[in-house]
Amino acid sequence: MDVDLLVRHGHVIAMDDAGTLIPDGAVAVAGGRIVDVGADATVAARCVAARELDAGGAPVHPGLVESHLHASFHTFRGALPDHLAEDDSFDTFESVFYNHVTDEDEYLAVALAAIEMIRNGTTCFLEAGTVLSPDSAARAASLVGIRAVLGDPFIWDQPDGFAQGMRAAAGNRSRIARAPGSRAEALDRLGTELRRNADPDALVTGHVAVLGLGTASEELMLAAKSRADAAGCVLNIHQSYSPADTGADRLRFGKDPLLHLADIGFLDRNVTLAHANHLGDEECEALLDRGASIAWAPAASMMWGHGGCFRGRHAELHRRGATIALGSDSPNWSNDFDLFRQANLAVLTAREAHRDRTYLVAEDGLWMATRAGARAVGLADWIGSIEVGKRADIVVHTLRRPELVPVTDMVRNLVYSSRSKSVSTVIVNGRIVLDEGAFVGVDEGELLREVQRSSTALLRRMGKVVEPNRVARRG
Ligand SMILES: [Zn+2]
Repeated sequence: MDVDLLVRHGHVIAMDDAGTLIPDGAVAVAGGRIVDVGADATVAARCVAARELDAGGAPVHPGLVESHLHASFHTFRGALPDHLAEDDSFDTFESVFYNHVTDEDEYLAVALAAIEMIRNGTTCFLEAGTVLSPDSAARAASLVGIRAVLGDPFIWDQPDGFAQGMRAAAGNRSRIARAPGSRAEALDRLGTELRRNADPDALVTGHVAVLGLGTASEELMLAAKSRADAAGCVLNIHQSYSPADTGADRLRFGKDPLLHLADIGFLDRNVTLAHANHLGDEECEALLDRGASIAWAPAASMMWGHGGCFRGRHAELHRRGATIALGSDSPNWSNDFDLFRQANLAVLTAREAHRDRTYLVAEDGLWMATRAGARAVGLADWIGSIEVGKRADIVVHTLRRPELVPVTDMVRNLVYSSRSKSVSTVIVNGRIVLDEGAFVGVDEGELLREVQRSSTALLRRMGKVVEPNRVARRG
């Protein structure tokens, strides 16, 4: 069989249901799909490849799936002072950002996020419905060659619900000029990104995003759910992130939020809850019963001190069969778009919280970053494993990193030791986008310089002067 690409001599970690590991394996790619997987000698005898790539015995695994990202915040990474209270972050930074950012700034921010993710072995991301110009995000994703699942920006009809959720005293909220100002406007915008799903080979697809955190009325939430059902796609919403927004939802629904959302038919198999740090016992049962997914962002919870890793139920739900995917959230909320790090945090904090070394193991972390991620973004049939018929989103590592040597158990070595440091070549939709550490078709140096110019000008327009922290002894 003639194929476009043959990855040879890889330690193939397939992430299929059988947990297939092939120490000297090969993966053949044609037309953007995986067309053969098996022992190297067998596959090589069956395939004639336009290009061969020798993994040299290093791990080869499916691309990681970022299930929760705010992709335009990259352009002000590091600008939020550590001493800024979360209640003040929307008024002093986020709303100011959204009222000054241009489409070109967003394009560059998403391109930066994309090259960072590709370098770290992430081949697909779901954007959580907060890039004001999804077309700019699509253009950036296409430039870099990363798979993107985009949502419509700021689907909300009661933005003050955010105030109730995020701060104790609801006050005068700063408005985002380009966000919908009414339910009619939100409904008008809802589902626009789904037009991308008509092409079965599309690199950029759409989902239904609702911002959540109390900013959507039940009417809007149910309209969004109907839209997602009709389109056969995922609905992504922020839910039960902090004690404050969880409490506000409990107040308006008259019961624990997930129980109400199950009652009204909203909580369902095609719904992915971002964060879900604060769930009660009955809510966990409802989530398992309804088959909804969670995008767990361990670093974001730790960064803002929400207790999601210690009091959250993610690890327990994963052990009971729920789909718990991993998300990095955004710069200033977690700052690190390395899903190996999120997997590492997920596994280690779960052990710490449960005081049990065996509570989660390395394979659990890799599962969350691949199979669970694929399901949580609505692409379970497309990506998440190395199997014949799936889209060819493949990460090839290199053994020329001290952290991956010696070759023993490579899942443990990846999750605990090398993480993304050993990522060498990345293939998305059958195309090599990172070739032994070098981007194909993107001038990375020039892109980084453009991002710097955009960020400096944007922060100036926002009236923000970034004051470096002084390092001094406390007390
Ligand atoms: Zn978020």
